[in-house]
Amino acid sequence: MSDNQYEIAIVGAGPAGLSAALYAGRSMVKTIVLERGATGGQLWNTAEVDNFPGLPDTTGPELAQRFEEHAKKFGAEFVYGNVTKIAREGDGFLLTTDDETTYHADAVIVTVGGEARKLGVPGEEELSGMGVSYCAVCDGAFFKDVPIAVVGGGDSALEEGEYLTRFGSKVYLIHRRDKFRASPSLVEHFDASDKTEKVLNSVVEEIVGDGKVTGLRVKNTETGEVRELAVDAVFPFVGFTPHSAIFDGDLVETDESGHILTDQKMETKTPGLFAAGDVRSQFTRQISNAVGDATIAALAAAAHVTEVKRAATPA
Ligand code: NAP
Repeated sequence: MSDNQYEIAIVGAGPAGLSAALYAGRSMVKTIVLERGATGGQLWNTAEVDNFPGLPDTTGPELAQRFEEHAKKFGAEFVYGNVTKIAREGDGFLLTTDDETTYHADAVIVTVGGEARKLGVPGEEELSGMGVSYCAVCDGAFFKDVPIAVVGGGDSALEEGEYLTRFGSKVYLIHRRDKFRASPSLVEHFDASDKTEKVLNSVVEEIVGDGKVTGLRVKNTETGEVRELAVDAVFPFVGFTPHSAIFDGDLVETDESGHILTDQKMETKTPGLFAAGDVRSQFTRQISNAVGDATIAALAAAAHVTEVKRAATPA
């Protein structure tokens, strides 16, 4: 086997990639994990985690570290790499990174997740890092005793909004409807704080500021009324765009939002190519189901590798 030849290549090292690494390592297949950012992925952007079974009271960063230590125990090799292309190479795969390093693998597990969706309003890009942030854990502490706005009505907005009450003097939640995607318990927690205020049926038209955020122009979709809300920070949590555009040709099928379709083994339409975690099309995106799906993907990928070797062995 050449230096860059592996049996399984895992792309991404969030909860799904780390779980896949753990199971692939334990299956005794030669495994590499390629990650371009911090090991732990989105866990680093998550404040409190209270829904991972067995760990009722942990934080994203703590869980990231524990996942990493555990995954490394079983022998997978971890390498920095920003994979920009995955292509077919015979019955296996060729992975190329942005510095043109190539890796060969019999099977690939794609666990690349995605990134925060943007609001796409004036001021958002210009004031990014100057009051506009997509990570409450990273930036919340910069906004002590000042008003903060969170945008969105899903689990992230409600959970991170509640977390931000420990810093801000007030946390506005701006949501375009009056119903929430977020689980009722998260809405309840958010409402329990006397620092929170919901601004419903409202959309952000502009983030205002010069060098730093000073406010938001918010429009009520029912009355058409536009008001300016004085805040020092805006945290949009309006969903997620999957990183599913790294495949050469039509190796995978995606749903209408770009998430990768798989079968129950987490295998895409290309044999030997698997996907798990937030990049995969699924009902919900929890840490626990990323872990479970990655377990399936790793065991199925290891079985695929065995099958490839058996087929290549002369009778
Ligand atoms: P999400 O569930 O897709 O929610 C996105 C929210 O943003 C929705 O309320 C949506 O409004 C709103 N929105 C979308 N585009 C918008 C726009 N352009 N302007 C204003 N509002 C907009 O995303 P998420 O909260 O990031 O969660 C993603 C996944 O991770 C979910 O499956 C979630 O359950 C999971 N998650 C779980 C936890 C946890 O269990 N602790 C924590 C975080 C995330 P509409 O409702 O009107 O569409």
